[in-house]
Amino acid sequence: MTLSRIPSVSAEGFPAAEVARSAEAMGDALRDAGAEKVEVLEIPDVHPYVYGEWMHKPGAPTILLYGHHDVQPPGRPEKWLSPAFQPTERGGRLYGRGTADDKGGCMTHVAAVTSYLKGAGGLPCNVKFVIEGEEEIGSENLGKFLEKYKHMLAADFIVLSDTANFDTGVPALTYQLRGIVQVDLEVKVLDHPVHSGMWGGPVPDPVQVLADLIADLRNRDGSLNIPGLYKDVAKPGKKQLKRIRKLPFDEKKFKKEGGLFKGVKLWGEKGYSVYEQLWTRPSLTVIATESHEFAGSSNQIVDSARARLSLRTVPNMDGRKAGELLVKKLTRKPPYGVHVSATINGSTPWWTTDPDGPAFEAARRALQAGFKKEAAMIGAGGSIGFVQPFSDLLGGAPCLLTGVEDPPCNAHSENESLHLGDFRKCIASTVHLYDELSRVPVRAPR
Ligand SMILES: [Zn+2]
Repeated sequence: MTLSRIPSVSAEGFPAAEVARSAEAMGDALRDAGAEKVEVLEIPDVHPYVYGEWMHKPGAPTILLYGHHDVQPPGRPEKWLSPAFQPTERGGRLYGRGTADDKGGCMTHVAAVTSYLKGAGGLPCNVKFVIEGEEEIGSENLGKFLEKYKHMLAADFIVLSDTANFDTGVPALTYQLRGIVQVDLEVKVLDHPVHSGMWGGPVPDPVQVLADLIADLRNRDGSLNIPGLYKDVAKPGKKQLKRIRKLPFDEKKFKKEGGLFKGVKLWGEKGYSVYEQLWTRPSLTVIATESHEFAGSSNQIVDSARARLSLRTVPNMDGRKAGELLVKKLTRKPPYGVHVSATINGSTPWWTTDPDGPAFEAARRALQAGFKKEAAMIGAGGSIGFVQPFSDLLGGAPCLLTGVEDPPCNAHSENESLHLGDFRKCIASTVHLYDELSRVPVRAPR
């Protein structure tokens, strides 16, 4: 609750001091749990990470616990039923920005460690906490962070609590994440806005050109019209397809949870199920557009218009290359000779793993014990930049992705909330997970 009161928004334009304050509060929570060597890890001009550990079980495996204490911007205040940074309980859920993504995720580990240290006086294994402060802006400085602190981070398993469960009450293990690449598109026509009556007709409208360029990125069958983009897209293997097809899907429920208005149809790529689209196919979203605000708008042709495009990538695609293909498509032949520029803003890699083996079996048993339900094996459409570099750094240590989010939790939107019943089940699962992993043989010596 204390943590969720701090507006630790990492995005540009929000006070960095609040992210620093939440790092301190996170550190206090780790200390209260009984973690040692708690430290706010700083790199100049980067939102701080938090570290803590409990390493008193020599010979037992070490688990690296990952979460993030920064949050998404709150969005439109008028849409929140209770203020974003005043955590409020309604109908078994705790509403507030960050309650699920990812302060709730972090707290499952804090609670599990607390219960071991206060109840049994010790943990069955060693743990290290790494709580990041810039996940919601793409972990841009992760490389620098790893360079500086890698000597502290050796571990046998990585447990990330930042992904979603399959359904309310149904746990999941995530074995695949999409990547992301962002491209900014700008259309410039005039060196100043002009009267839309005196000039409208012959003179191109940058907003309509922008709309045309964006509309041209999508084919009628729902695929993306970006030449070369699908060449590198990996086809899911037989085992993965079997795993996906085993999962129940209810379109009505899916639409309801997404908040689609009545009558709105899905527009995804033909020939692929919804889960295949979300987890194994690229997709494009326009995340911002800018020309003129409603306030102060007048009858003029604006001078320029821009849009921010976000392209999700999947296994085998190179994010940078996908961004370049998108830039090429947008700038290849500007209509009417207007000036079109497109630039890549940065990319986060996808991640995938084979979810078989003793660590995954241990995690499935732990989730079964906490939820009294079998864990679904799922992919996720979102991106977490941390996973691949960390797994590489730890020599391919198994990464277990779990979390407290459920489909109606509204992460990244207004009225984000945490299902308190599932939160308790996640804590119970986490308690079992430490115990289960403590008995999994570790790989070759580090
Ligand atoms: Zn998150």
